[in-house]
Amino acid sequence: MKKIIIAIDGFSSCGKSTLAKALSKMLNYAYIDTGAMYRSVTYYFLKYNISINDASAIHNALKNIEIHFERVNGENHVFLNGQDIETEIRGLEISNWVSEVSAISEVRKEMVKLQQAMGHRKGIVMDGRDIGTVVFPNAELKSRCY
Ligand code: C5P
Repeated sequence: MKKIIIAIDGFSSCGKSTLAKALSKMLNYAYIDTGAMYRSVTYYFLKYNISINDASAIHNALKNIEIHFERVNGENHVFLNGQDIETEIRGLEISNWVSEVSAISEVRKEMVKLQQAMGHRKGIVMDGRDIGTVVFPNAELKSRCY
């Protein structure tokens, strides 16, 4: 069967990830949790003391960041430079900083590029507030929750 891209947009805590996870399991599609990607960048910035005001440090940090997803015991986990940080990125410190980090335009540009590359092989469910508008405006299936 032809594989497609499913984009799920909406505000935080509206059930995007619940829907995305269920769909990805049902269809055996990869689930790309874009919030986890921004959280991973935040984790890296905190770990290596990258200031959100230091453009050149941010630029260099982004060149050294590799993010991918793997299923671990049936659950979707995010890996940063080969390390499973699914638990670490859910902590309070990350939650407190992630919106500032995700507001940095170079960070957004890099994440959107990565997300679009992940979509090349199709067969993905991606959630996040800009997925149906910025990342995959031509996704075959779009859903928006409020
Ligand atoms: O969905 P989650 O709470 O993990 O997302 C963490 C944060 O990452 C959001 O509050 C938002 O600031 C940012 N984010 C974003 N764009 C996305 C996904 C998440 O800016 N596509």
